[in-house]
Amino acid sequence: MTESDRAAGDEFVALGLDPRLIETLVALGYEEPTPIQRATIPPLLAGRDLMGQAATGTGKTAAFALPLLHRLDLLGPSRPRPSALILVPTRELAVQVAEAVHRYGRLLQGSVLPLYGGQSFGQQARALARGMDVVVATPGRALDHLRRATLDLSGLSVVVLDEADEMLDMGFAEDIQTILAATPTARQTMLFSVSLPPPIKAIAKRHLNDPVEIKVAREHVTPGAPPRVRQTAYIVDRAHKQAALGRLLDVEDPSAALVFCRTRVEVDELAETLAARGYRAEALHGGMAQDERERVMGRLRAGAADLVIATDVAARGLDIEQLSHVFNYDVPSNPEAYVHRIGRVGRAGRAGIVVTLAEPREHRLLRNIEQSTQQKIRIDRLPTISDLRAKRLELTRAAIHDLLVEDDLEEVRVVVESLASEFDLMQVALAAAKLAHRAENRTGEEAEEIPAPAPERPRPYRAPGTRGAPVRRPGGGAGGAGERPRGGRRPPADAAMTRLVVNVGRRAGVRPQDLVGAITGEAGVPGNVVGAIDIGDESSIVEVVEEVAARVVRALRGARIKGARVAVRPA
Ligand code: AMP
Repeated sequence: MTESDRAAGDEFVALGLDPRLIETLVALGYEEPTPIQRATIPPLLAGRDLMGQAATGTGKTAAFALPLLHRLDLLGPSRPRPSALILVPTRELAVQVAEAVHRYGRLLQGSVLPLYGGQSFGQQARALARGMDVVVATPGRALDHLRRATLDLSGLSVVVLDEADEMLDMGFAEDIQTILAATPTARQTMLFSVSLPPPIKAIAKRHLNDPVEIKVAREHVTPGAPPRVRQTAYIVDRAHKQAALGRLLDVEDPSAALVFCRTRVEVDELAETLAARGYRAEALHGGMAQDERERVMGRLRAGAADLVIATDVAARGLDIEQLSHVFNYDVPSNPEAYVHRIGRVGRAGRAGIVVTLAEPREHRLLRNIEQSTQQKIRIDRLPTISDLRAKRLELTRAAIHDLLVEDDLEEVRVVVESLASEFDLMQVALAAAKLAHRAENRTGEEAEEIPAPAPERPRPYRAPGTRGAPVRRPGGGAGGAGERPRGGRRPPADAAMTRLVVNVGRRAGVRPQDLVGAITGEAGVPGNVVGAIDIGDESSIVEVVEEVAARVVRALRGARIKGARVAVRPA
């Protein structure tokens, strides 16, 4: 480790984590713990139970995985297997959390297995028989294995319930109770949830032992009002983030911008990719010597660089007058960090633009920031290729306009005059504009269309700590929390709605139009009684107008959708 690496790990060391975990975090480019990590790691290392109110994107996975790995390691090589069970609502999350546990634990001896439906049961059973330290499972699949005695939970030391509110929304309450009943009482239990409705509190009361309670979701930002700047977010799948950033940079055309990433590794990668694409981009992070950082900032101030890609730590306290834009390549893990980032623009009454890229799962983190800052973050659709073309044409027009207004054009008069005898003046102007247009386009490369993100998993947004009704979709725009076939009429905005759980989902190949078709066809009701539809992996949630809910439930009983026999119940 270098001197600066040691400095980066200092705060993690202070939390009491195993040196091998710290080495891994430094290698991953983490510069400091996120607020939830600061709050959870010490009590979890001390063996306390925990109830944490936190959304995805806050660094929650590391907040429970790091102490979990630390404590499992202390049990020694002959520990029972599994020693830890992490329950998550969906297959995607099972894979994602298992990958994170694997990544954080790479310098410790240990194994992790994701368990979810749709995968070969036998294969999973064989992996379990070999002995896995950490199992990350959806409740349904965990219960299947428990019932067939292929999963033995009697040796567990740690149980994590991740996204507990969502597991309940998906109808897993009973499964969770049964699973917990099969675990030893002397275990450490952690529960994470964005909202804490009474059923979650009941589970916590019954299964957690004097838990530490931690809430990062409702953090309020006090120091001074954040500057008034234009704040826009775009929902983009992770795989398309670089392309999306490139598109936004081209359309926004910042004079000088800071692009924030979460880790040093991301900073280096992004700076390199952007530089390779022709942007004048430089990296700035805590791993660089002070004089090196000064030089980078100097180049940005002097206009020799357009973009500086930075971590929060490295950019702290920077004041660059010329900054026109801040780009958040990731949603910052907490509102404080967001406010610090956007504080870099819009100073002293100057205009500033903040652009945030959010993955579909990070949607609620944005809301959280909005609530804390009391400022609206507009969610917009990514500019399309034709928007980009229009923008480029606008730049060309503006450049020609400036020339016409400001410059002496006599020097080139001879060119126009000699052509005017042969061509119409309009034709000459068009050709000249085309030439200018080509020269204006910095990258010149033709962009590819960036696909809209896959719809979010079923989960209505709720303000933390409330049990409010799901927020209605803003018309199926990018990142809306639900979906619906195009062109369908909607229920009146004030209609009372009932949410129904249907036992078929993406895995059965079900699409929103299949659900609408089955509901209208079987129950003989019009399409506009159907509201938000959220297709999950194994099941879906459909909103219908309350008056017809019972009729829909009756009519769908035993019906088939995509060949699968349907069971429906109110959520
Ligand atoms: P999560 O909330 O667990 O989904 O994490 C969100 C993202 O933050 C993941 O990509 C993590 O790799 C990243 N992350 C977690 N902790 C830190 C940290 N201390 N510094 C930088 N990035 C982090």
